[in-house]
Amino acid sequence: AARSNIFRQKEFNLQQLGIGGLSDEFADIFRRAFASRVFPPHVTSKLGIKHVKGMLLYGPPGTGKTLMARQIGKMLNGKEPKIVNGPEVLSKFVGETEKNVRDLFADAENDQRSLGDQSELHVIIFDEIDAICKSRGSTRDGTGVHDSIVNQLLTKIDGVESLNNVLLIGMTNRKDLLDEALLRPGRLEVQVEINLPDENGRLQIFQIHTNKMKENSFLGPDVNLQELAARTKNYSGAEIEGVVKSAVSFALNRQLSLDDLTKPVDEENIRVTMDDFLNA
Ligand code: ATP
Repeated sequence: AARSNIFRQKEFNLQQLGIGGLSDEFADIFRRAFASRVFPPHVTSKLGIKHVKGMLLYGPPGTGKTLMARQIGKMLNGKEPKIVNGPEVLSKFVGETEKNVRDLFADAENDQRSLGDQSELHVIIFDEIDAICKSRGSTRDGTGVHDSIVNQLLTKIDGVESLNNVLLIGMTNRKDLLDEALLRPGRLEVQVEINLPDENGRLQIFQIHTNKMKENSFLGPDVNLQELAARTKNYSGAEIEGVVKSAVSFALNRQLSLDDLTKPVDEENIRVTMDDFLNA
């Protein structure tokens, strides 16, 4: 049911989902990776195409890659996807990392074996994938252990070729470090750059992160989000969120009396003003 819903719903209100900007990127991902996903394998096979098995979201830190991947996961199988992290999968024990990589795909493999085409879709989100997929020969540990981990992951992804129930989403800030073989067709074949937001994107991100305080009348009437968006060129979404948090702490600070921290806070008077944002 979840899959056929996305098929019908072509217009996405990303802002409502807490994602500012990025609608072009989302549309791109939808067209290249989802569209075929919502059709069952017997239809795609008649078209002579294969499901996209993997995609890579890359770009500077704090731009919403995780937000986006999470949302894709939720849309495709209706529940919160599991996110694993490169450095976490990497173990200092020889052989253990390979096992961790194998384990990642185990549930999907079991489901495919027992349920076949009825298996639900397993979305595997792999943050900081560069930590375990640096190009082979690039690390100088001399043991070849690292190279064998990369090979292991590539073999697993190739195995996914025969599984219809996996979508692997890798994320990285350093696409240049990745082993090229990882990016070939059949692997992380759809690559989408998630860049710093433009002014309109920044405005949406400010709106998302001030929405709650606005609803509760804590946002001062003088706050001009459009101006803040114009003044935060080159800020990432995470940095804009940081500005909002910092502005709030200026506003809260005004309400505190250092003589008596036990004094009840006058909630009514909390106002986050334009000056708070500018100071932040
Ligand atoms: P990293 O590469 O460092 O893992 P990332 O690109 O995955 O970063 P996120 O983890 O998605 O970035 O962003 C961190 C936080 O910054 C988010 O939880 C969100 O609060 C805020 N943020 C970043 N980008 C956006 C955006 N486009 N819209 C709304 N909030 C954003």
